[in-house]
Amino acid sequence: GATLGVLGGGQLGRMFAHAAQSMGYFTAVLDQDPTSPAGLVSHHHVRTGYEDPQGLTELARLCAAVTTEFENVPAGSLNRLAESLPVSPAGSAVAIAQDRAAEKAHFVKCGVPCAPYAVIATPEQLAAINEALLPGILKTARMGYDGKGQIRVKTRAELVAAWDELKNVACVLEKMLPLAHECSVIVARGRNGDIVNLPVQRNLHRDGILAVTEVYEGNLPATQVEQAIAAAKSVAIGLDYVGVLCVEFFVLENGQLVVNEIAPRPHNSGHYSQNAMDVSQFELQVRCMTNLPLVQPRQHSATVMLNLLGDLWFKDGDQARTPAWDRVLALPGCHLHLYGKVDAKRARKMGHLNITAATPAAVRATALQAAEILGIAPF
Ligand code: ATP
Ligand code: MG
Ligand code: MG
Repeated sequence: GATLGVLGGGQLGRMFAHAAQSMGYFTAVLDQDPTSPAGLVSHHHVRTGYEDPQGLTELARLCAAVTTEFENVPAGSLNRLAESLPVSPAGSAVAIAQDRAAEKAHFVKCGVPCAPYAVIATPEQLAAINEALLPGILKTARMGYDGKGQIRVKTRAELVAAWDELKNVACVLEKMLPLAHECSVIVARGRNGDIVNLPVQRNLHRDGILAVTEVYEGNLPATQVEQAIAAAKSVAIGLDYVGVLCVEFFVLENGQLVVNEIAPRPHNSGHYSQNAMDVSQFELQVRCMTNLPLVQPRQHSATVMLNLLGDLWFKDGDQARTPAWDRVLALPGCHLHLYGKVDAKRARKMGHLNITAATPAAVRATALQAAEILGIAPF
């Protein structure tokens, strides 16, 4: 069999490897960490940094095609690999996703509304900020995730202090919007331009980290569902994107749909697809990179995903204790996914629980029971 490579050894790479292996491929992972979740389950583990020329050469030698699971893999490494083998997504698309300023400019170009914003990369730009953007959120343009690198500011004085605290790196200031809910759409686009989507996911974040995703009929108003899918596709097509792309949205209190950001890879909010769809987001990733056909995925179950953060291991104090999986798995339709991370830490993504059922009411009831057993707050 051919070998498929992935840059990055986290849980997304691990689940990609599982999907690739079940379709008969070998997998190779590039990640420095000897205990990386994807490296532990792959046939080849190249243990260098993402920019190491020897590591990249070795990966290219092993693989028939390469993808990425980690948003901040240097775009230059993807471009370098693309000289000798198919790489999806392309470095050019990943470069836009890595930079909030370029990302927002892309949304504007595609005609998809995003939050009012301004770039702050110089003291002059800081001084010129329009008060109408306050209260707002100052976000570093690069490298932020799970709400890291963001400071909420109410006044100009707070903004000045926040930019200092972020070490005066390039940032965007976004206006704080009144959110009714958050949702996301995952699309997969092939090299021939075929594009398919997963259903719209309704997401609940806690402390800047995804906590719960719900996907079933009636979880969002129909007009916003259609708008979100159309917007996600136009963002992907505008990038000439190949691979799996997640587009995150805000639904405002007035019902308006606003794009938040994109992730150029499978996404935490798409994990339910492993158990509630007939094709998972990771299988879509494999199909994109190997030019296999993309068929529109079909949802066969109502579903809720609960993220399993390291905090659940510390419910009884500072000594890590494995949560009561036996009690959770006694409930109907619970699918446990753990990432094989060596040690639990608070706020670390350790796994997720997909719950499936025949109806929205049934899946919510079971998910709330599972949440109570685990000590996850109700939703
Ligand atoms: P991810 O882990 O999804 O990449 P991130 O660190 O890139 O997260 P964002 O998605 O930009 O962060 O913001 C994190 C969360 O903060 C959002 O999901 C939303 O709940 C809230 N948020 C961000 N921007 C705004 C805004 N302009 N108005 C209101 N809430 C916001
Ligand atoms: Mg982000
Ligand atoms: Mg986000």
